[in-house]
Amino acid sequence: MEQGFIKASSANLPRIDLIMLGTFLASNKDFCSAEFRNVKTSMSARASYGDDAVSYVQLKREGNLCTIKAKICPEHKVHAKLYGVSLVVDEQEETVKSVECHDCVASQGGCKHAMAFLMWVHRRSEDPSCTSIECYWMKSKLSRVGSTLKYITAKELSKGSPSLPSNTEVFEKFVEEGRRRLTKCELMKYQKDYVLDRLLSLSMDNLVLKYKEKCCDKFLDSVIFSDADINNVEEETREQHKSKLWYELRYGSDCFKSV
Ligand SMILES: [Zn+2]
Repeated sequence: MEQGFIKASSANLPRIDLIMLGTFLASNKDFCSAEFRNVKTSMSARASYGDDAVSYVQLKREGNLCTIKAKICPEHKVHAKLYGVSLVVDEQEETVKSVECHDCVASQGGCKHAMAFLMWVHRRSEDPSCTSIECYWMKSKLSRVGSTLKYITAKELSKGSPSLPSNTEVFEKFVEEGRRRLTKCELMKYQKDYVLDRLLSLSMDNLVLKYKEKCCDKFLDSVIFSDADINNVEEETREQHKSKLWYELRYGSDCFKSV
């Protein structure tokens, strides 16, 4: 923690209500610029990013001013350097004085980290008051991915509630159309009636998936290649390194010396 700062918690964080937020955004040219009126701002302002990305919140009060500092985890590189941000609030006047990101080369003030932090403090002000005090001096959820958290699923991200349409009509139409026209669409492979290309189905990956057999000998016994299969593979893979199929089938083929 920096000199003179204390750990921030739900008990000592200054309040930024909607009026304060609106006044600041409207009067601050950094956040009113063309770039910030677009999707990017609403992305960094959304709760699911900020709540997982904000960490090590500390604050200091001097006179009417409260300075809050935090580290923001970059959204796409969870182990990259954290971005330092600071926010100054005048608690007497009830105004947001400034919000800055110290590590963004590109930003002259209004970057998405600054925006995410401002919105985070605002959301904490709107949180229903709770009897227990929550400390904000901690690692962010995003930064824990890969160390204490092995991975994070989309569901576990804060408020990660995918909005799926209640009826699947559009999806079904797509799949139906896809059966007729799409040969390389990944989605089609997950449909029950999907038939894998005969030669591709001879790859190690697909054979393992097909037989799901743990015993090596039993597995080898169950795999049967017809002469036609072998001839077709030979014909299709003559170009070797130019053939995608060759790479696919070569993988793990040491087990099948006969192929
Ligand atoms: Zn930044």
